[in-house]
Amino acid sequence: MRLEEILEKSVEEEITPEEAIYLFENTQAPEGYLPLFKAACTVRKEEMGNVFRLDGFVGASMECKIEPPCCYCWRTKPGHKWGTLDIRPEQIPQIAEGFKKTGTTTVEIGGGTDPEKSGLVIIELLRHFKESGLNVWVNVGPALEEEHIREMKKLDVEAITCSFETMNEEVFSRVKPGDSLKKRKQLAELIDRNGVSLNSVLMVGLGESYKDRVAHLFYLKGFKNFHRLSVTCLRVFPGSSLEGQMSSASPLEGARTLAIARLIFRNIYISAGGGYQNIPLWVMSGVNRMTHAGAHLSKKGQPSRFADLESLAGIEHIDAGNGYEIISPLSISTCYIRSGGMDVEPSILKACS
Ligand code: SF4
Repeated sequence: MRLEEILEKSVEEEITPEEAIYLFENTQAPEGYLPLFKAACTVRKEEMGNVFRLDGFVGASMECKIEPPCCYCWRTKPGHKWGTLDIRPEQIPQIAEGFKKTGTTTVEIGGGTDPEKSGLVIIELLRHFKESGLNVWVNVGPALEEEHIREMKKLDVEAITCSFETMNEEVFSRVKPGDSLKKRKQLAELIDRNGVSLNSVLMVGLGESYKDRVAHLFYLKGFKNFHRLSVTCLRVFPGSSLEGQMSSASPLEGARTLAIARLIFRNIYISAGGGYQNIPLWVMSGVNRMTHAGAHLSKKGQPSRFADLESLAGIEHIDAGNGYEIISPLSISTCYIRSGGMDVEPSILKACS
């Protein structure tokens, strides 16, 4: 009965921390998570409309200097080599044209984290992508100074990301031993204080409790300029230090977290990080934006993020010059999203048809 009451009320007003904990504890079976997803979809539609946005991705802009690497990172995979993109400003107009051919309007410029280089490298990339007509948000970890944030604001960055993954101090220091929760909090406060939109990430399955997750979500809700929440699910790579210690998180646990987050935040972008194969589940759980189901920039010949989809028809490769290409799964992502009853941005729909 209490579940029905909370969900009925949640359609009209945001839920409290106590109600969020109750929902985590009481929606593990279909009779709980199905009505939870229904409430999240209703709130998304009323507050944000019915369009699911798909961003492009320009990742690995510089080498990550966090040592030791975060336990869940690709860098912990035995034999993994960091492939920095190394794009030069004069290449960016052609790269931007490649993205635009797919209908992409917005790109994420991603890290790693390099406190000595990240700010200046990202500002240059941001400037040139903006001049080439794309909207941009950035994600480089705790490597930015206030002057970088102010410069990015002048360049009209859509948002700057400060991910936490977890805010449980013990879990954070165990899974992110080379990182600092204190520095991440300072960066988030700096972004918000400067009037720049803030994006952040919560990872499910690191050993955090439901209470931790709820405290994390309400911490983020306290920021005036909070703009976009991403929820990711822990993946344990073979041969990494987590193998045998922890299991990869279930996408359903990610989906319940996304749906509960929608009932808390209401009118922000909510995004699932990775897992484009799970798009129908993300659509059901109140998500309205993703990056890793969109087009991405790649060096030709490097393993594709979409390697497991390459056997399907519909992955597009667009030459971006100088040995680079845009790889786009957008026709597949669009089909999955529309089959779930949502629309995509008109520019993407047009490019896919
Ligand atoms: S900050 Fe990002 S890229 Fe660097 S080790 Fe952690 S997860 Fe990997």
